[in-house]
Amino acid sequence: MIIIASHNGAIGMDAAMQVLTSGGSALDAVEIGTRLVEANPADHSVGYNGYPNILGELELDASIMDGRTLDSGAVALMRGFPYAISVARQVMERRLPHVLLAGAGAERFAREIDAEAWQTMLSDDIVALWRRRLRESGSVPDPSELDADAPLIDAVSIATDPERVTGTVNFIAIDSNGDIASAVSTSGWAWKYPGRIGDSPIIGAGNYADNRYGACACTGMGEMAIRACTAYSVVAYLKAGMPVETAARRAMQDLRDLGGDYIGGMNLIALDREGNHAGMSTRADATYLMRRADMERHVELERQVVEIPGRWAGRTSPGN
Ligand code: ASP
Repeated sequence: MIIIASHNGAIGMDAAMQVLTSGGSALDAVEIGTRLVEANPADHSVGYNGYPNILGELELDASIMDGRTLDSGAVALMRGFPYAISVARQVMERRLPHVLLAGAGAERFAREIDAEAWQTMLSDDIVALWRRRLRESGSVPDPSELDADAPLIDAVSIATDPERVTGTVNFIAIDSNGDIASAVSTSGWAWKYPGRIGDSPIIGAGNYADNRYGACACTGMGEMAIRACTAYSVVAYLKAGMPVETAARRAMQDLRDLGGDYIGGMNLIALDREGNHAGMSTRADATYLMRRADMERHVELERQVVEIPGRWAGRTSPGN
């Protein structure tokens, strides 16, 4: 039994391991670990109190995958429900003939299953920060003038440049049956264009788990992971027989082939079915967490660095 997570998963590691050691499933473990991060007001990249989009609205993305069956569930652009990972899990488990629900449909589904809804998803401090950030960027005359018809194309580029404040949480676990599950949850880029969906709820991009080989989950510039199918690439390289470190490094190196403006910081964690793990990042000081069932506490491990040259390189995902 083992759990790996992005560094901001620390708050959920004990509860997730408790699930595994008491005979629970990898799916339960990754969901519980993720929920604790989603509820953490100090984490501004996931769930409650994440950084909002350019209109000051918090839109959450999440996905979960069951390595036994390749079943998966995801939500995107969901507002008003802090536990996006639990709604994603229900998309998978409620016999809905779908994998991904977005926006008003995701919120409707969340209401239908009685998911916990919170009236307030942002603290006053974060609302004030959003206003200040927009004012300082000079991208709009006044944040309160951002109504339904305000032009946002230029504003969003200015607001997110050069600081793309991002983050996300990843959990991957193997339970006592040897089953693998993976979970990813995020509020996405700060000040993003309304309706922007990242890699986190896209199965194969930011999240993938297959009992036969292993699993991978990503943080960083989701546009890159979507274009290169990064999480699935790691699992495909495992399937081709590579050790987990090689598979993870290869998938990172594949990102060098991407052209265009959206070249930036990327991070991933990967676990093979034997419990071997790897963490990769474009940044030198990035870490991830690992705990086996016989350990009293998780350890924080350095990620290996894979450089991806480009305009945005190294600027995203502080700390992941
Ligand atoms: N991958 C997330 C996204 O693109 C953000 C992040 O991890 O920094 O939405």
